[in-house]
Amino acid sequence: MDFAETRAQFYIPEHIVYLDGNSLGPLPIAAERRVAALLREEWGAQLIAGWNDAGWMQQPARLGERIGTLIGAPPGTVTVGETLSIRIYQALAAALDRVPDRKVVLSDTGNFPSDLYMAKTYLQRFDQDAELRLVAPQEVEAALDESVAVLMLTQVDYRSGRLHDMAHLTRAAHACGALTLWDLAHSAGALPVALAAAGADFAAGCTYKYLNGGPGAPAFIYVAPAHIDAVQPVLSGWLGHRAPFAFDPDYRPGAGIERMRVGTPPVIAMAALEAALDVFDGVDMNDIRDASMALAEYFIDEVQRRCPQLILASPRDPALRGSQVSFAFDQGYAAMQALIERGVIGDFRAPDIMRFGFAPLYINRQDLTRALDILEEVIRDELWDNPAYKVRRAVT
Ligand SMILES: *Cc1c(COP(=O)(O)O)cnc(C)c1O
Repeated sequence: MDFAETRAQFYIPEHIVYLDGNSLGPLPIAAERRVAALLREEWGAQLIAGWNDAGWMQQPARLGERIGTLIGAPPGTVTVGETLSIRIYQALAAALDRVPDRKVVLSDTGNFPSDLYMAKTYLQRFDQDAELRLVAPQEVEAALDESVAVLMLTQVDYRSGRLHDMAHLTRAAHACGALTLWDLAHSAGALPVALAAAGADFAAGCTYKYLNGGPGAPAFIYVAPAHIDAVQPVLSGWLGHRAPFAFDPDYRPGAGIERMRVGTPPVIAMAALEAALDVFDGVDMNDIRDASMALAEYFIDEVQRRCPQLILASPRDPALRGSQVSFAFDQGYAAMQALIERGVIGDFRAPDIMRFGFAPLYINRQDLTRALDILEEVIRDELWDNPAYKVRRAVT
């Protein structure tokens, strides 16, 4: 696989090494044209006719099919729109409805706070006897028992990059009668995901990380065929209705995955996402995975050799990691600011994690060599020791 071709499809400012695609993917050059065309030729020229004539209303299904091919989901099981937090809420509610005699949602302490907030609030509001049970990531399998209704996990830990074995844990959950909900925020576009083959029941993910859909790009949700016709959507918006333009005062769920739609799709954002997905055409997710593991191995080896002050906070075995690598360093925030000022962009997660994402679509080994030289200098010469680097900004 020649990633020089995919790299040429992104706009990345010169002198920047971009290792933060795990938070926000870079701009696909074609997105600019695609969005400009939509603004002028569709919204501008067609006005409201765009809903019918430009296919805006079918966009969530169209993009769902394309994302489905990247995550091992069969046709008709994925739709796009809303945000990931909302998708988690919808999927969890649907999963819980399917196991009405049980009261426990099992997750791990590494899960992303928004997922946990959504779960906790849902349980508090709708089922006071229910419990969100959190265990350490390595304890998940042992904590599965017959009280568990839903195993809700993020496949790749946002802080450490630790990768759960989806197929294995899904089997274990099913063996004790529980369903699974997988958050693919750091998986979709980063590594091969095989939802149907793993038997996953529900999944959701965002598209602005490794899928490069742009800031605030819409999320996706997957519902396995075995469940979709039984789901009574907790967020019963009009576009999930069987006949939205009948303006029926009573809600009737739409056909199949369409019922997971809620409100008006973000058409402009979806145009950018559509262009971003074009980059994946003809790319094998296995090739992305192999290349990202090679990049991360090189980076870890060199950091350990050149910057012993940084402590690896990700699994050392590449098979147990997603596409990002984290290091603990007590001056991590300031060190990351020093790196960013020198053109190496990663990010920081409290309390002390420096995080670097490796996306072979636009990052190569030469980029890492440059980043490593700069990182070595920042750490060796304590360039982070500058008051300007210690002022915390709103987004870290
Ligand atoms: C990025 C991320 C989110 C963000 O949710 P939004 O609603 O899109 O802001 C949620 N969960 C996980 C696991 C994430 O990594």
